Amino acid sequence: MKAVAIKKGQTKERAPDFKAMGTLRCDSCGEEFIVFHDPTFGDKAAAERQAHWLEKVLAEEHERERKHPDRIQLPD
Ligand SMILES: [Zn+2]
Repeated sequence: MKAVAIKKGQTKERAPDFKAMGTLRCDSCGEEFIVFHDPTFGDKAAAERQAHWLEKVLAEEHERERKHPDRIQLPD
């Protein structure tokens, strides 16, 4: 696993060595997720792609009335 998004406030326990690449806010509920990369990965362009992907995933969860998980694995 190289990249993961973690809900704000849950980051300390869950991504000890990872590098924060940016924050994404859910349009529907305002919850914030931080995109983390493995320190050997750390790719800014990938982080932007993943943020777009995550935006759609979060919106889909609202459509299905599901809660956002604390941690979402991101595609490379
Ligand atoms: Zn939301």
